[in-house]
Amino acid sequence: MSKMYDIIIIGAGPAGLAAGLYAGRAKMSTLIIEKAKDGGQIAITNEIENYPGSEAEESGPTLMARFSAQAEKFGAEKVYDTVIDVELEGDVKTIKCEKETYQAKAVIIATGANPMKIGCPGEDKFTGKGVSYCATCDAAFFEDFEVYVVGGGDAAVEEAMYLTKFARKVTIIHRRDELRAAKSIQEKAFKTPKLEFMWNSVVEELTGDDLLNRMVIKDTKTGELREYLADPEDGLFGVFVFIGYRPATTVFEGKLEMDRGYIPTDDQMRTKIPGVYAAGDVRVKELRQVVTAAADGAIAAWQAANYIDSMK
Ligand code: NAP
Repeated sequence: MSKMYDIIIIGAGPAGLAAGLYAGRAKMSTLIIEKAKDGGQIAITNEIENYPGSEAEESGPTLMARFSAQAEKFGAEKVYDTVIDVELEGDVKTIKCEKETYQAKAVIIATGANPMKIGCPGEDKFTGKGVSYCATCDAAFFEDFEVYVVGGGDAAVEEAMYLTKFARKVTIIHRRDELRAAKSIQEKAFKTPKLEFMWNSVVEELTGDDLLNRMVIKDTKTGELREYLADPEDGLFGVFVFIGYRPATTVFEGKLEMDRGYIPTDDQMRTKIPGVYAAGDVRVKELRQVVTAAADGAIAAWQAANYIDSMK
């Protein structure tokens, strides 16, 4: 027989952990289900400068460790398990995971989003052998090597600047001739030593022997193909990919209304199903930041607690 909770929160990123804190403080019996590692995307973010009150040189993992400890302090339980099926309709929601099945009166979906892949030949083969989606995790492997960063948004440009602290040279490969990143980030980037830009370019192929050492680039204006080889003395270069994110909602397909994979809610985080809420990057919204995810989580938990009280 599965244990019954008031609120189950799926995902332990900023939205899920903030929801856990507010649900715990509302005296709801609360379970947070996380499939891998607390913190979500932010656990692989090197520097958090824009979360209000974050400490100097705050990193994603340090901030998330405090979020997590605070949620647990107020009684939220946490398990590490992967959700494989959900039943969201009715007064009792069932969340089937690989190891256990859990039930609750309300569910908050805070599963976030995952990095998008380029989709070119060689990308999967060389992941971990030159291709990376996490500068914080892998920058140190490229100390004094050449590194390329794919993308032109805030993530690509910020992580490229971080990578200049390690790599001999960092080149941003962007498919247009203008960055999408915020102007303030661009200004910093254009002044960053060792950071160069390859405009109107996309990666067509990544190859090598054991390690990534050859790349084919296509000019998006002319269609011309160019080959880039690693310095023979290095035998390797890095390609860091930051081209956006895809919502982690596969398990909810057909169970809930979706918009291009994201979950629509009202401004109180309510989905169309009573007792089911979505919070953070997984929902349809414009500004996906730690601060907005945390705010979503707080609102969702507060609404879920009100919903449960109204059932009595
Ligand atoms: P993003 O803003 O969606 O930017 C994605 C970038 O990748 C764009 O420049 C896009 O090019 C490019 N791109 C997309 N698909 C591509 C493909 N198949 N091949 C090559 N390039 C491709 O994503 P993000 O930078 O990950 O940021 C996501 C959200 O997090 C944003 O809201 C951002 O503001 C926020 N964020 C904020 C901070 C911060 O404030 N410190 C840091 C990181 C992220 P186009 O420009 O041509 O579309």
